[in-house]
Amino acid sequence: MKQFFAFAIACTVLYACNNADKAAATKPDILLANLDSTVKPGDDFFDYANGGWIKRNPIPGDQSSWGIGNMVMEENLKRLREISEKAAAANAAKGTDDQKIGDFWAMAMDSAKIEADGLKPIQPLLDKVNAITDIKSLIVAVSDFKKIGSNAFFGEYVAQDAKKSDVMAYSLWQGGLALGEREYYFKTDSATINIRNEYVKYITKTLTMAGEDAAAAATAAKNILAFETKLATVSRKLEDLRDPYKNYNKMAVTDLNKMAGNIDWPGYLNAIGVKNIDSVIVGQPEFFKGMNAVLTSTPISDLKSYVKFNLISDMSGVLPEAYNIEAFNFVKLFTGAKERKPRWKRAIEMEEGAMGEMLGQLYVKEFFNETAKKRYSNMVEAIREALKDRIGKLAWMGDSTKQKAYAKLASIKSKVGYPDKWKDFSAMEIGKESLAKNYMNARLWWHNYNYNKLGKPVDRDEWDMYPQTYNAYYNPSNNEIVLPAGIFTVPGYRDEELDDAVVYGYGGASTIGHEITHGFDDEGRQFDEKGNLVSWWTKADEAAFTKRANVMVEQFNAFEPVKGYHINGKASLGENIADLGGILLGIEAFKKTQQFKDNKNISNLTPMQRYFMGYALGWLGHTREEQLRNRLLTDVHSPAKYRVNGPFTDVDEFYTSFNIKPADKMYRADSLRVRIW
Ligand SMILES: [Zn+2]
Repeated sequence: MKQFFAFAIACTVLYACNNADKAAATKPDILLANLDSTVKPGDDFFDYANGGWIKRNPIPGDQSSWGIGNMVMEENLKRLREISEKAAAANAAKGTDDQKIGDFWAMAMDSAKIEADGLKPIQPLLDKVNAITDIKSLIVAVSDFKKIGSNAFFGEYVAQDAKKSDVMAYSLWQGGLALGEREYYFKTDSATINIRNEYVKYITKTLTMAGEDAAAAATAAKNILAFETKLATVSRKLEDLRDPYKNYNKMAVTDLNKMAGNIDWPGYLNAIGVKNIDSVIVGQPEFFKGMNAVLTSTPISDLKSYVKFNLISDMSGVLPEAYNIEAFNFVKLFTGAKERKPRWKRAIEMEEGAMGEMLGQLYVKEFFNETAKKRYSNMVEAIREALKDRIGKLAWMGDSTKQKAYAKLASIKSKVGYPDKWKDFSAMEIGKESLAKNYMNARLWWHNYNYNKLGKPVDRDEWDMYPQTYNAYYNPSNNEIVLPAGIFTVPGYRDEELDDAVVYGYGGASTIGHEITHGFDDEGRQFDEKGNLVSWWTKADEAAFTKRANVMVEQFNAFEPVKGYHINGKASLGENIADLGGILLGIEAFKKTQQFKDNKNISNLTPMQRYFMGYALGWLGHTREEQLRNRLLTDVHSPAKYRVNGPFTDVDEFYTSFNIKPADKMYRADSLRVRIW
């Protein structure tokens, strides 16, 4: 994935504007606008390319980071607000998209009603918690919460079977940790200790607000942390979740009881709508065994408190302000944001989560044109060709593996802009009862939508992101890259105003080349051209790949973006390989363009210099320290600065384009450079 990453600008319509000749002549070169000429490119390229902008653009109070992605997303929020307001004013007939969008928006903005309703909209769920007397009734209640997206105790999902990509499978996965990642329960630096202390306070306040006696709530809070710490103890580390074989353990439904017998699995699966299967894929069996033991060693009253807190915290965005403020005060320890986002932004973000594709359908009508779609579809083919050439030249890979690699590369499917076929939201119930009701109904719709796929043919035309999203992904099970319209947006500029050098760096390398390389990173390379987890490598080629990848692990382990917090080279390996691959493929493809062949400077920059700066533009931005720490523990992507400076040190053209010498800080001797794709 490129990255979830949020950007704003006094900008024009990016793709849809039709008076192209007006703006082009007067706009400054976007590359010059951002740079910091006091920094030498060979000392810190990221700061050289982006430092000027960073100095002039502090992070706004309601944001955890601020950069190009944020600006695209801020612009999108405004567009989606217009769409929502229009829909709300239309008084559309019940069941139409406009009615759903309009009512969701209206309920989310009606703060007086949200306050007046209090906990009433989730009272039926709280009643279910109160009715818990033992593990059996606990699991019955939890099965209802799972249908509206709860992560209590463990995770689960429906997706293609990794070893049989034409079949949908149900998977169980470790989960249940409110802090999101096991390391938060064990690290002993002061920031992490503070997070655990504040977590206990947050639970105490939330349970007290919901009517519990303050002393009892304080005890429950400590016990909840203790319970989650036990779950964390049996959870795998982030880097260990990236081995597709270790995290694939297929078992018969009847064997689940042997693994974790305190849960009535057939009853549970039936309750959440798992049908038409005889086996389940368990990601981490030892987690479920461990959780099973902890279930009986923990008093039922603590488990009840855990479920209750989990439910209220999960719903805090749709409850009265007091709940939302407490949740924000806790979450800001991870994000560093100083203030909450205004209600309208929170409303649109929730609406996107609920019905983002419905909004996207209206969005692309207004904001994405066929010329842009064609430019990027052609670029996909140019980059595919580039990888084919590079594979042909690899000295470390034997011919039989190469033939398989070509086959895989040729069958990578690309989806550009927006889906050809839209999801049918007609069964989603959205009305004017309450925001909470709409929110839960939307989540229930998504649950049913996903679980109804079991036993049916795989729909390979589906999209897992929205057209307006500033992100992209590679899906190994479909052997496909999915490139939403939003990812190619450069705020303030229309696509046709950007020269190829910038676009090949910005979109070609950091998005298209990156996603294609994911098919050949340490994880993606283990899937074949049909999307199945099956080895197509010879032992010798596999060993050669791993040896090269290990150089990259060490390279990134050495980076320390925040004191005491290094990049996890193993956990981020796939992303780092994809970044380096993307840059190299972008270069090969760019070399075939007329702009490169003409070799004319623009703003005193050579075409290749513009390419590298275009790539760095994709990572323009900065992040608060709280958020950086959080990402270093939970995110498999390296921080933005290291996604530029890290791989650039491995790229020969970078050295020649900017005349980098051994005395420069970024210089890496030829023999130490990573050479994979
Ligand atoms: Zn990625």
